[in-house]
Formats: sequence, C-alpha cells, structure tokens
Amino acid sequence: MPASSADLTVSLLDDARALAGDIADLRHRLHREPEIGLELPRTQEKVLAALDGLGYEVSTGVDTTSVTAVLRGTGADAGGGGDAGERPVVLLRGDMDALPVQEKTGVHYASRTEGAMHACGHDLHTSMLVGAANLLAARRDQLAGDVVLMFQPGEEGFDGAGVMLREGVLDAAGRRPAAAYGLHVMSSMAAGGTVMSRPGAVMSSSDGLFVTVHGAGGHGSAPFAAKDPVTVAAEMVMALQSMVTRQFDVFDPVVVTVGMLQAGTKRNVIPETARLEATIRSFSPEAKARLKASVPRLLESIAAAHGLAATVDYCEEYPLTVNDGAESAFARRAVDELLGAGRYRELANPLAGSEDFSRVLAEVPGAFLFLSAVPDGTDHAEAAYNHSPYALFDDAVLPEGTALYARLALERLAATRP
Ligand SMILES: [Zn+2]
Repeated sequence: MPASSADLTVSLLDDARALAGDIADLRHRLHREPEIGLELPRTQEKVLAALDGLGYEVSTGVDTTSVTAVLRGTGADAGGGGDAGERPVVLLRGDMDALPVQEKTGVHYASRTEGAMHACGHDLHTSMLVGAANLLAARRDQLAGDVVLMFQPGEEGFDGAGVMLREGVLDAAGRRPAAAYGLHVMSSMAAGGTVMSRPGAVMSSSDGLFVTVHGAGGHGSAPFAAKDPVTVAAEMVMALQSMVTRQFDVFDPVVVTVGMLQAGTKRNVIPETARLEATIRSFSPEAKARLKASVPRLLESIAAAHGLAATVDYCEEYPLTVNDGAESAFARRAVDELLGAGRYRELANPLAGSEDFSRVLAEVPGAFLFLSAVPDGTDHAEAAYNHSPYALFDDAVLPEGTALYARLALERLAATRP
C-alpha cells in the first residue's frame, strides 16, 4: 500500500468527524420523512441537493427514483501512461427506502409520516454515503480510478437493485467495477461500532411460495360429496416441515415458514379453495435448486393423492448474498486499519435475512458488511432488532461508516494500480 496509508486513515476519520453534524442532520431529515418502495421523490431530492457542486456525474433512474453518481478520479496511475479505459472502478452502495412500520422510538427526529419508519436504518446508509461522497470529492486527486455511488430505492422487497442493474448502474462509469461494497447498520447483535461480516455466504437466499388448493365446495356434514381443500392444505403445511428435515442436509439449512393460510367462510361450509403462502430461505445454490424442484412436486402430489389439484407458484426472490473471499479479507483489513484491531468480528454463520445487493455481488466481486449502531449503554442482546418499531440506530456510527465507505474506495483503487 502507499506510504500515506496511515495518514490517509487519520485524515479520513478526522474529516468524517468534522462532517458529523451535516451527516446527522441529513440522516434526521431523511428519518422524519420516510418513503417506501421504488418511488422516493423527497429522499431523492435530498440526496441530489447534498451531491450538488461536489463534481459528480449524477443520473437518476427512470423506473425508480435512484441516484447514480460517478466521480472521476484524477490520481496518477503508478504505471504511468496507462490507458484511461483500464482505470479501475469501485462501486459503493447505500439503500434509501423505509418500511411500513409505525415508529415508537420517541426520538426527536422520529417519523412524521403515519405508518412509515426508517426501521432498518437505510437513512444512515444514505447519509453515510453522502458523507463519503464529500470525503472522496475532496480526495479526487488521490483516486486512481473512478467511484460509482449507488443510491438505491426499494430494497425492502421491491428489488430496487434489480431495477438499477437493468438501468445500467454497473456500466455507469463506462467500465465494470472491479469491486463493490455495501454497508448495513444493525440495531442489535453486537456492541455499537462493531463491524461484522464473513467470506462466502453472508445472507440467505429468499423465495416466495404461493399455493392454491382447488377443491369442490359442499356441506360440512357431507365431505364425501365434496373435495375438501382445507385438510389438504393442512397436510401441505406439515409436509413442508417434514420435507425440510428429510430431504435437506442438516449442515446446509433451509427455513420454510408458512406465514399465510386462508380458507372458508363458515364452520359448516366446505370451501372451494384454500390458499397458503410461505417464505423459503436457503444458504447454498444447491439447496435453492433442490427447493425449486422439491416443493412443487411435494405439494402437487399431496393434492393429487387426495383427488384434488393445486396451483403452485414458486417464485425466486433475492439470491444468496455471497462475499468474495479476497474482497472480504480486503474489507476486514480496511476496518482494522481505519478503526483499529478488535472492531471487526467475523460472523460464524450467515444471517437468515436477504438482500438485493446480492444481485450486485453476483456480477462483481465485493463484500457486504454489517455495522452495529446500538447506542452506548444499551445491552445489544436486549436491543430491538431491525424492522422493530422500537429499533434505535445511534448517530455515533455515522462518521465511522462514512470514513469506511471512503476508505474502501480509496484503498481498493490504489490496490489495483498497475
Ligand atoms: Zn435493511
């Protein structure tokens, strides 16, 4: 690494701390006015205003209110006279959307929008990435390549990353990124300021299951004259759990949760149909492929065994989030050097949540890191989890997250100097 690495770290953290008030102010304004889904016009407005004048090439999405900002680094290639077309690109991602949760934190900057809350901390991601935009713009002459900032709507179940990929975020700088990094704050799990990740699978894949059992309605006293979809649906719910334990490797876990089960109108009427919906999580491509084959076969066969039919829609949602081994090690070193040894904790297992940043990491090597934002003095084991109406994310992590984003880009571009 360049000899200036240590100085760079000090100045990055100092500069991020100097910006802490502005970053927190943006975070509070985003938090007060949360927006859900792919259309976040007020959020987009705030990000565009914050990037104005920093020297980025800024573009916005068509099918979603995304913001893509490209900074052209002017730092010299160590090799000299290199082809500008070969200069590396690094992508940093911050998601921007909120959740349909009624906030109960009582913080002074609490949501003023009924039924919407930044309960997953994406307001911190957005403001830290804006902070990093400032730090990087001030170091343009040290950037040995270009940086793409991906401000993404619709992470919470709307596949905003998929939309941005279709709209060309990976080609925003004219060349594919050499690496991509994302941060996610946590309101529990570890003491505030802890950075957590792991090489390989870091978050689960998620699929959706939508089933309709087609029976024939009738009188509750005469089931032999009807085709009861209720008993068949009940058998399906239990059989899915048996399938998990009998058909899947215990060391490659699968989670199936039937979260919705609906049938009937009255106790003595056999309904025409029954419906169930499930979320399915897995941690390897093999398990995902097997689920996609096993689940429809199992459910259709159960219906057929009872002389009924079932429509089974197995929908692949977010892929497995996989950290590249080398990028994960690089990010870990960046955390150690920036924040000091002991701040990084390697996760023993992936988290069972899912992320659409997985779509970026499927195309570009990179790493996804968790940053605990548990307030000082709060027991992280007792703290409300992300998505809770009580989830608290402390402003104290904003400068460090900001500096970490910037550090990853600066250092990674320096590392790929020819
Ligand atoms: Zn989230």
